[in-house]
Amino acid sequence: KINPLNVLAIEVDSISKARILPLASGLADHLFEHDGQITKREIRAVTLSALAPRRGELLWDIGAGSGSIGIEWMLAHPSMRAIAIETDPARAARIRRNASACGVPGLAVVEGSAPQALTGLETPDAIFIGGGGSDAGVLETAIGVLLAGGRLVANAVTLEMESLLLSRHAALGGDLTRIAISRASTVGSMQAWRPAMPITQWSWVK
Ligand code: SAH
Repeated sequence: KINPLNVLAIEVDSISKARILPLASGLADHLFEHDGQITKREIRAVTLSALAPRRGELLWDIGAGSGSIGIEWMLAHPSMRAIAIETDPARAARIRRNASACGVPGLAVVEGSAPQALTGLETPDAIFIGGGGSDAGVLETAIGVLLAGGRLVANAVTLEMESLLLSRHAALGGDLTRIAISRASTVGSMQAWRPAMPITQWSWVK
């Protein structure tokens, strides 16, 4: 028997297709439709922890990809609000599908490129930069728009983005973390650690 409190998304007419989503951040990657551009589960859990959602707050998820970060922010509590900013139209459509399928259709999606696409959006309590962070003006805009006490978390995969984060950290402080995850996978008849690209994360409170 399915506890109705656990049924967050029901496929229209069939409760047997209901998806039961765990309450902790860091949901399995396969719970999101994605094209490979997704913040992996373990990194996502650490990222949500750094974003530190509090009731009623608004997140900007810049370079939202599949929308997984904004969706998990929304799932933290019914009062949460988030705006996903994504430049790729197919991904923006995918974010809307993922938000519905995860039971948070209220996630707002802005299809466009940061920093231009950020103009006029409601001031956020927290900002995540998962893409576009090395585009001119994105990091500066994010730093500038936050109110005192607002949180900024930026993940870098590329050396170019990492070097930007190192200089922001040197100038403004905050925490720099390097997250390297390996998953066991098969090599012939045996298993070996397959490393994912390491992430450099800068987490800063204004
Ligand atoms: N955190 C995401 C993955 C982000 S991948 C997830 O978990 O699914 C980075 C994304 O940033 C890509 O989808 C890319 O299209 C987008 N992007 C890159 N530059 C951007 C910009 N300037 N504005 C908005 N989105 C951008």
